[in-house]
Amino acid sequence: TIYLDHNASTPVDEKVIDKIVAAMRELPANPSSVDHREGAAASAAVEEARERVAKGINARSADIIFVSGATEANNLAIIGTMRAQNKTGRTRIVTIATEHPSVLEAARNTGAGTEIVVLPVDDQGRIDLNLLESELKRGTALVSSMAANNETGVCHPLSAIGRLCEKYGALFHCDLTQLTAYHPIDVQSCNIHLASLSGHKMYGPKGTGALYCRRRRPHVALEPILRGGGQERGLRSGTLNTSGIVGLAAAFELREPRLKIAANIADLRNALERRLVQETGAFVNGGEADRLPNTLNLSIPGIEPLALMRRLSGQITFSSSSACSTQSVKDSHVLEAMFGANTERTKCAFRLGLGFGTTKDQVETAAELFIEAVSGIRQGRVGSAA
Ligand code: PMP
Repeated sequence: TIYLDHNASTPVDEKVIDKIVAAMRELPANPSSVDHREGAAASAAVEEARERVAKGINARSADIIFVSGATEANNLAIIGTMRAQNKTGRTRIVTIATEHPSVLEAARNTGAGTEIVVLPVDDQGRIDLNLLESELKRGTALVSSMAANNETGVCHPLSAIGRLCEKYGALFHCDLTQLTAYHPIDVQSCNIHLASLSGHKMYGPKGTGALYCRRRRPHVALEPILRGGGQERGLRSGTLNTSGIVGLAAAFELREPRLKIAANIADLRNALERRLVQETGAFVNGGEADRLPNTLNLSIPGIEPLALMRRLSGQITFSSSSACSTQSVKDSHVLEAMFGANTERTKCAFRLGLGFGTTKDQVETAAELFIEAVSGIRQGRVGSAA
């Protein structure tokens, strides 16, 4: 089958697997047990990984906290900073309607006293920076904006958001999950104070991730959610996942040369997009916005995505809207924010996510299969109506 669901999860690269397996074999001790040689060896591997991950986003290694994935990173960033900020009386958080549920739900559950402002997006999934600025003027503790959307690939202007946060003295949290594999990131030049990363969206292992939290100029106060043994400077207790952390770092190592060829994925995506638009009358959701190179979110009028998935089952793997919100049949909150509830554009949307392993042949075959399936569904409907 042709795998076009890289936004939901990427396959783990073979080189990453080798490093994970080696770490599992060779580093059995607890990396916190630094008083013996085996523990020190595991700890050294974790610290080397920390350097690698930090370098990948132009951060200092002391600012990296290893966690279980972006869901945890988003929760820790938002709940952790708001709990610390609430003590200072700054209680407003500004976020965006198209954020991942782990951001929106965390913002709704920071504890008493938080006021949440959810910014709307236009029909291309873009925010209005003037609106953000007018919210910031009213005094805001934290702005949480993703770098790139997991359903549409639409990217937000991080440097501009960072400048506004700096101007009004707000902290800037950025969910980098979908962007990391395909785009360079500099947390310092974008004035990002907190950033969430996930291993399994960048050819690394599932259940791994990191939160970047700036500890200098200004120092970002963070309250832990998981308390216990005090690992990760007390900010995230729990025995470190040595092999997973090594795997995450290996994914960052692979990422560097690949960033240079991410444009090739955009070429394949654009070719697929052109064919499907021409042959099926598909609409491209977020097509006029700045987008990730790998993501294609389409709505084909009258074609139910689940019917399309059934026809193509075993041939193409893709997603009806967001595999990130389990198997709910709920309409996508991202597309609802762009097009409104109960619109055909929202109901008929599906997502194709290409990756570094996607070939030109696969894209051509996928295009043919989609076109055939759509015309099959359309003919079937005419037949049954007769
Ligand atoms: N944020 C975004 C933008 C995502 O796409 C995802 C994964 N679907 C997450 C957060 C959650 O990441 P994880 O699976 O690592 O918890």
